Amino acid sequence: MARRFSDKTASPLGRSTPLVSPLFQSSVYTLPDLDTLDMIMDGKEPGFIYARDGHPNAQLLAERIAALERAEWAIMCSSGMAAISATLLAHLGQGDRLVASNFLYGKTSQLLRDELPRYGITTTFVDTGNLDHVRQALAQPASLLFVETLSNPLLRVVNLPALAEMAQRSKCPLIVDNTFATPALVRPLEHGADVVIESLTKMMGGHGDVTLGAICGHGELSTQLPPLVSMWGFAAGPFDCWLAERGLATLSLRMKQASANALGLASWLGGQLHVERVVYPGLPDHPDHALAQELCGDCFGNMLCFELKGGRAAVNRFLRQAPEIPFSPSLGCVNTTLSHPASTSHRHVSPAEKKRQGITDGLIRLSVGIEELVTLQESIVKGLS
Ligand SMILES: *Cc1c(COP(=O)(O)O)cnc(C)c1O
Repeated sequence: MARRFSDKTASPLGRSTPLVSPLFQSSVYTLPDLDTLDMIMDGKEPGFIYARDGHPNAQLLAERIAALERAEWAIMCSSGMAAISATLLAHLGQGDRLVASNFLYGKTSQLLRDELPRYGITTTFVDTGNLDHVRQALAQPASLLFVETLSNPLLRVVNLPALAEMAQRSKCPLIVDNTFATPALVRPLEHGADVVIESLTKMMGGHGDVTLGAICGHGELSTQLPPLVSMWGFAAGPFDCWLAERGLATLSLRMKQASANALGLASWLGGQLHVERVVYPGLPDHPDHALAQELCGDCFGNMLCFELKGGRAAVNRFLRQAPEIPFSPSLGCVNTTLSHPASTSHRHVSPAEKKRQGITDGLIRLSVGIEELVTLQESIVKGLS
């Protein structure tokens, strides 16, 4: 008969315990009897039955993330969008209205604008940089206020403490997508947010090899969310969780190095020929520099934008001349990558809306990695020449 890993007498580990988390790549678990099943089902004993309902790698990763966010609980989902969808489903019902920033991640805006109305849920989009506009939007009953700590691509910073106070006064939970900042820069729960969402696909996973999301918070939702995540099929797989746990271990180191590189590049790029403007919250000329200092201290993140004179043609030339910086429409990898918001993340946004947001054809978004700064400068010089 095959020896089962769970048989204590037959364990291949003896009395040893692995130093690092093992990968539990099993979609289902086996139990010794019905009494044990009851104990686990009733939550009186820890354990797992079916991986869509929970598995050790998701639990281990969720515990690490909760600690980083200073949250009571965290729940893993199969992607950042799955985490956003689960959060919306937990809070909203037919006839509800939410208030959201008009600078959101493209797919999130699409979800709010095009999908939710099919379920009778409407969204009022506001400029969350204008607190009066938010106050006006919250004067009508609202079920949620949804914002991002740092916006894509132009890195507008939201005033979390002020928004949290307004949301609380309107008895409206504040949901913060913290993907661009990560808990290494900002912990929104400490500034009054009710729920935080992270896409680990980006900087938190950090190595460009997982698609994963997390929801974190205090109190209530911790019992409501797990069955919802299981039912709607938003659960994360063990291997992605295992990889992300490994990536997360270096988040703070990676963020420090990448932020130092980004600040170095931002200051240097401003003096380069063919560069029209540089957008980085760590530069004193950024419209939200003071707010960024309040929320992030002296580390302003790995994302920056710069605009080339000459529009799309200049960007094409840059891409062809600087292949060491891969054109890859994502972010948060160990190596530096670049994206072109006008033709990727904001491709389906109207020209008028692009203009409002300041997304031009010459705008390049850099996701700065942890390479040596001089190596990066050498690559960029090739693109600019
Ligand atoms: C990428 C991203 C998401 C979605 O995450 P996925 O893991 O790709 O589903 C949500 N919000 C922001 C700000 C993102 O950058």
